[in-house]
Amino acid sequence: MSLDQQLTRINVMQPWLGEEEVAAVAAVLRSGWVAQGPRVAAFEAAFAASQEAAHAVAVSNCTTALHLALVVAGVGPGDEVVVPSFSFVATANAPTYVGATPVFADVDATTGNLTPATIATVVTARTRAVIAVDQGGVPLDLRAIRAWCDPLGITVIEDAACAAGSTAHGRPVGAGAEIAAWSFHPRKLLTTGEGGMLTTSRSDWADRARRLREHAMSTSAADRHASVLAPPESYAEVGFNFRMTDLQAAVGSVQLGRLPAMVARRRERAATYAAVVADLPGLRMVADPAWGTTNFQSCWVEVLEDHPMDREELMVHLAEAGISARRGIMAAHRQPAHDHRSHAPLPVTERLNDRTLILPLFHQMTDPEQARVCEALSTAWRP
Ligand SMILES: *Cc1c(COP(=O)(O)O)cnc(C)c1O
Repeated sequence: MSLDQQLTRINVMQPWLGEEEVAAVAAVLRSGWVAQGPRVAAFEAAFAASQEAAHAVAVSNCTTALHLALVVAGVGPGDEVVVPSFSFVATANAPTYVGATPVFADVDATTGNLTPATIATVVTARTRAVIAVDQGGVPLDLRAIRAWCDPLGITVIEDAACAAGSTAHGRPVGAGAEIAAWSFHPRKLLTTGEGGMLTTSRSDWADRARRLREHAMSTSAADRHASVLAPPESYAEVGFNFRMTDLQAAVGSVQLGRLPAMVARRRERAATYAAVVADLPGLRMVADPAWGTTNFQSCWVEVLEDHPMDREELMVHLAEAGISARRGIMAAHRQPAHDHRSHAPLPVTERLNDRTLILPLFHQMTDPEQARVCEALSTAWRP
């Protein structure tokens, strides 16, 4: 390994931001209106159009989007919400914010996502909703899940935090959802620093979410500002402050324009990884499901029994080459915040949690950088 290779560490993820974002933020600062205002409205409209969603409501992050989704769907104390344990902890936390109980379901071994079968195993008479995650960007078969849940009156909330730019059944992920939550954290593709979005096919849910994110005020702060003699506002229920700022939205609008290029580049690099992994016994890489395409937000590999190293050893091996891989998706039921909950057996979740790692993949990654990762994966077989 050359000296400069030793010095440059390859990160697992880096946001792709440029001068256009800098200019967009500067323009907002110069405008003097930095809180939620016209740029948030413009970003919402652009996001709704790009995701083929009827309504989009920008919020402070995906965790607050999930919280709001549960509120507008009428989920509350005594209700059960089926969630995958195999997800970032926010998915399991959200039901607790409305006094409901998260109930863990196992996931499909190939996609890492819920299926009608894994949901059916844990549904009870108290099940009010399911939070179904497009884990790591891999689209779940929402159509199949809704076909199973809708007749039972179980609301399906799509947690599309990772999945902007993924597709299902020939449409953008989220297009087939009654309600979906999105994240713009830098660990995802499209970023606003922190930020989130709620999309929904229902205008009544969109209207209520729009009010609730802003203290349930009858007129928005932006509308009040626009009038010289502001009308008196009222507060019909207890709301929240889940607003996005115009600074974030201005960045989001630029980022949305970059999304197709980001997805294309990630899919090219993922194809390169997939070709290398196909020649290495003992490794399985995540791939597109039959019904859609992933944005490879998380390009994970499973370290199988016949690999000479286990997942921890392979991570050390990569780290020695200056490559920062990450353990795969977490399992919420194994965390102190949730390990007191009784749950059905979760064998697939536990196996994937123990055996997967996420490979570096980001827009600016160079060919030599990716070649270094591929080389390190290969030398794990001939130490
Ligand atoms: C990142 C993530 C979240 C939380 O998103 P924030 O915007 O950071 O609140 C929720 N669910 C999933 C599946 C995620 O990956």
